[in-house]
Amino acid sequence: MRKRYLCALFAALSALFVAVAALQTRNNLPTVADSRPLILLDAGHGGFDGGTVASDDTVEKDINLEVTTDLSVVLRLLGYRVSTTRKTDTALDDDPTKTIRERKRADMAARLALYDAASLVISIHQNHFPDASCRGTQVFYSTNHPDSEVLAEKIRQATVSRLQPDNRRACKAGSKDILLLHKTTSPAVIVECGFLSNSEERALLKSEHYRRRLALAFADGIVQFQPT
Ligand SMILES: [Zn+2]
Repeated sequence: MRKRYLCALFAALSALFVAVAALQTRNNLPTVADSRPLILLDAGHGGFDGGTVASDDTVEKDINLEVTTDLSVVLRLLGYRVSTTRKTDTALDDDPTKTIRERKRADMAARLALYDAASLVISIHQNHFPDASCRGTQVFYSTNHPDSEVLAEKIRQATVSRLQPDNRRACKAGSKDILLLHKTTSPAVIVECGFLSNSEERALLKSEHYRRRLALAFADGIVQFQPT
């Protein structure tokens, strides 16, 4: 019953937010300079780049977009200024006449420009590992800005306390292989929401209810961080 209530509440709040945004657009209301910090939510992968693919053909990019969309709704309702790298299944700055390598490079460059223009970046991904027993959210942070580790720890704590009491995964500094974290100068984290290679966790990640609870936990961590 509580589950259904939460889903209905979330759907109602989402619809309200969309309606208000549409009204503002239609009435062309004057905009004032927005001094609030800009939170960028990066839905990992997209378009030609699906990310990891599970044994049941669940594609990472789709789960990333769902979690990102839910998180953006929650944060906007809480009054934060939010933008996202994508709203649909597309890569950024994509030119289909180019090679996959060139397209990947252009996508990364476009994302990095958005990262560096933001006050704060949360990139949403899903994990995959040969050992199918691995599960649980893990947060990686950029070492270029000290706030990144603080944000990562707040998101980890909120996720453990709200959803995953047995999760012992510590936050980790992103290696230089995680190119966007390695290069951006903004406070930035990557949240690996869970393992698509674990069938139980994959089933959870495919459930709207669980994804929304994840989004609420991440939002809680962001609020605790107190973006400035
Ligand atoms: Zn990924």
